[in-house]
Amino acid sequence: MSQQTQQLGELSFENTEIAFRGKSNGDLNKAYWLFKILSSNFLTRVGRPITDFAFNVGLPIKGLIRATIFNHFCGGETIKGCFPAIERLADQRVGTILDYSVEGEDTEEAFDGTCNEILRTVAYAKTNPNISFSVFKPTGLGRFDLFEKINANVPLSTNEKLEYGRVRQRFERICQACHDSGVKVLIDAEHSWIQDVIDDLTREMMQQFNREAPIVYNTYQLYRHDKLASLKADFYLAETDGFFLGAKLVRGAYMELERERAQEKGYPSPIQPNKEATDRDYDLAIRFCLDHIDRIGLMAGTHNEANSKMLADEMNDRQLPHDHPHIHFAQLLGMSDNLSFNLAAAGYQVAKYMPYGPVKAVMPYLFRRAQENTSVAGQTGRELSLIAKEKKRRKTTR
Ligand SMILES: Cc1cc2nc3c(=O)[nH]c(=O)nc-3n(C[C@H](O)[C@H](O)[C@H](O)COP(=O)(O)OP(=O)(O)OC[C@H]3O[C@@H](n4cnc5c(N)ncnc54)[C@H](O)[C@@H]3O)c2cc1C
Repeated sequence: MSQQTQQLGELSFENTEIAFRGKSNGDLNKAYWLFKILSSNFLTRVGRPITDFAFNVGLPIKGLIRATIFNHFCGGETIKGCFPAIERLADQRVGTILDYSVEGEDTEEAFDGTCNEILRTVAYAKTNPNISFSVFKPTGLGRFDLFEKINANVPLSTNEKLEYGRVRQRFERICQACHDSGVKVLIDAEHSWIQDVIDDLTREMMQQFNREAPIVYNTYQLYRHDKLASLKADFYLAETDGFFLGAKLVRGAYMELERERAQEKGYPSPIQPNKEATDRDYDLAIRFCLDHIDRIGLMAGTHNEANSKMLADEMNDRQLPHDHPHIHFAQLLGMSDNLSFNLAAAGYQVAKYMPYGPVKAVMPYLFRRAQENTSVAGQTGRELSLIAKEKKRRKTTR
């Protein structure tokens, strides 16, 4: 990785020269038009049925998708196919989190296949220092309905108990491999009605594998009003039981679904009353982790500039080195490059989730990104204005 760093105190997320250094003029134009198209609600709404239809009747749209949205948000179709993208990030001191993003397959064979693929990412991470973390989504390793049943304390049949045993084994195989290889692993958070069982399982993995260092990281969704308390409770358990807590802090990706389900089923929504409450708890969670950073591995998974700046400033105030081994920032590939590359240039540890998998199989992930870039107020506008600023800067400095 290049050792070029900014001086302390020079961190600016407005520096588009650093943010887009890895993009040619052509790449920049493509990104501009992509975000323009994504900002059109209409296209995002009709895109999914049209694409499903086209794939079903065998229309040749794979090439078009690969050349546009797939290339922007994904690293490739295989681990090897991601090599150039991993190098491009590494050139600017940004690490990669290989995220096998195949979704919606619900067979034991598919779960074993996903587990084996994640083990391959762990093996590869061991050989490449530019791979910062491994990651998996719990529903890639087990049936959603099974998690839901356990979460709701519904008794399991004998077969279901065996099935859950296999889910546990998959979790354990990955965490064990990560522990043995010294590769950290993030366990993504999903819907609240399956999250308790995932939290329990992840806590057990932390107790087992985080004895010498934070290896296994759970995800805390601070858009839930109970998650700051969970983070603290897990920390106190880690402290008394003598293990390291791994904490990836996010706001949470399923807000609309959570609220709709709570209303439909008539229970109180687990989501904070407003964005300000989510922001407040996110800030408090960051500060709590910094207060106990000797025992907590912290990852700030956010595109929020104020939080990223706040964390960077707090590290300076507390005289923590920028490359503190327990502190990482993370964004998604293709989003908020102004955060990732400027933080990395200032010497902080940054990684990008790099989704990969066959084009058709990662479509659900791509549709979520498309939706997020229309529904998250301000994000697309921010991406567009930064790209426009850089285009202008290049024109005037030519
Ligand atoms: C590296 C990385 C890993 C991630 N992993 C996960 C994961 O494992 N699980 C997961 O669920 N998500 C995950 N996410 C997505 C994340 O939860 C957010 O949806 C997304 O990053 C937007 O939040 P933000 O902090 O970046 O930005 P912001 O724009 O500051 O925040 C937007 C978020 O604020 C919250 N919010 C918005 N309006 C309201 C409101 N009215 N009331 C209450 N809250 C509100 C919502 O969570 C919304 O997504 C991840 C994101 C990143 C960058």
